[in-house]
Amino acid sequence: MSRTTARNAARVLLVGVGGLGSPAALALAHAGVGTLGLVDDDEVELTNLHRQILFGAADVGEKKTAAAEAALVRIPRPSPLTIVTHDTRLLPENAAALVARYDLVVEGSDNFATKFLTSDACALAGVPVVHAAAVRWHGTVLAVAAHGRPCYRCVFEDFPEGAPPNCAEAGVMGPMVGIVGAVQADLALAILDGRDVAGTLVTFDGKTDAVRRRVIAPRKSCPLCGPERAIFAIDTARYAQDAGHG
Ligand SMILES: [Zn+2]
Repeated sequence: MSRTTARNAARVLLVGVGGLGSPAALALAHAGVGTLGLVDDDEVELTNLHRQILFGAADVGEKKTAAAEAALVRIPRPSPLTIVTHDTRLLPENAAALVARYDLVVEGSDNFATKFLTSDACALAGVPVVHAAAVRWHGTVLAVAAHGRPCYRCVFEDFPEGAPPNCAEAGVMGPMVGIVGAVQADLALAILDGRDVAGTLVTFDGKTDAVRRRVIAPRKSCPLCGPERAIFAIDTARYAQDAGHG
C-alpha cells in the first residue's frame, strides 16, 4: 500500500481536542489522514484561544468537538476527510470500545487519569498510541507501537504523588503546545507510514528551545507490558483520580 493510500484509509482517534489536539488534528488533516475521531466533552472558553488554534472568538461556548469539526472540514484536501465526533470524555466504560474502532490514537489530554486509561486501553486493544503532554516549559511526546512495548507505563509508572498540575492550573505557553502537538502528529504519521518509531521519546524545553530525541528501553517491572504484567483489563478504580480537562 502506498503512503498516500495508507493515510487516506487511516482512522485516527484524538483524545482531547485542546492545546495539543488542535495542532495535531490540523497537521493530520493536512497530511491526508482519512478519518479523524474527536473525543472531548468540553466547551470552548475565551482563555483557551491563545493555545487552542482550531478555535476562534465565535466558537466560545460551543462544544469543542463541533467547533473543531467545522474548522477541520474547511481544510482544502485532494481526498475527503471524515470527522467522527465523540462528545464525551474517554472513560473506563467506553475506552476499550472507542480505541478499538481506530488504527491509531493520539492522546493529548491534560490529566493523568485519561493518560493512563488511554495507555491501558490501547495496549489491551493492540492499537498504537502517541502520547503528548505540555506543562509550563516542558513538553514530552512518546510513541507506543501496536505491540505495546515499551509503553507509557514504562516511563510513568503510575499516578504521581499529590495533585499534579495540569495546563489550566500550571499554565502553558501557546507556542509550546504548537511545537509539541506538531511533533506528536509527526510521530503519528510515521506509524501510519510504517516506520518503526516504537519507544521514541521526544522532549522539548521551552526555555532553551532544546529538542531531545531518544528511544526508551522497556521496563522489566512494567505492569502493562512487562513479563510481570498485572493489567489485563480496564478496572475503573485504577483511574479514580481525575484532574479534569482544561
Ligand atoms: Zn510498559
